[in-house]
Amino acid sequence: MIGMLVSLLHMDYAAQAKVYKDGFTYQKLTGQIKKKIKGVSFHKNSYITYDDLRYVRVKYYNFNGEVRNGELIVNKKIAKKTVQIFYELFQIKYPIQRIRLIDEYNADDEKSMEANNTSSFNFRTVAGTNRLSKHALGLAIDINPRINPYINSKGILSPENGKAYRVRDVKKCKGKYARYMIQKNSRITKIFKKYGFRWGGDWKYSKDYQHFEI
Ligand SMILES: [Zn+2]
Repeated sequence: MIGMLVSLLHMDYAAQAKVYKDGFTYQKLTGQIKKKIKGVSFHKNSYITYDDLRYVRVKYYNFNGEVRNGELIVNKKIAKKTVQIFYELFQIKYPIQRIRLIDEYNADDEKSMEANNTSSFNFRTVAGTNRLSKHALGLAIDINPRINPYINSKGILSPENGKAYRVRDVKKCKGKYARYMIQKNSRITKIFKKYGFRWGGDWKYSKDYQHFEI
């Protein structure tokens, strides 16, 4: 009886997940995920609810060329695009250091960036402003943020441990992973743009090389 119940629950769980390709799925947030993000990356607000968000699983190649599983939370409006984009990145073996929920860094963007963690949803304002970030709506994705830092209009860079990557010329940059930096003509930039995203490296007064938003 219990075995049957467990398998029914399991079926229900599996049925919720939309499978784009093997290892690339998206689904509504389960109770377990809500519990994990509540009061961490998610705070009660008048802009977004749990129902607006989707839990996404993707596969990627890490910096050692090994296949890994990653997880993200994004807005339901971009859930399908997200798996499509990460599937394209997977096919070209695009190197990503890690993809974990920002809750594992206590929703501390600085800590997540320092760890070069790729992530999306985090209910927060734009650093140093009162303006709600696109990340607060799950409509922005940061890729390899340590090697693709954010440089504000005053020239202040974050994360601090990404300072070698202020130099965006691959031949001049002293960073170990300079060859993985996101550039205007990088394949990743073209892929995101194809799906309607804008790139923070194109901004005029500040540069957010890690950032893609819709
Ligand atoms: Zn961002």
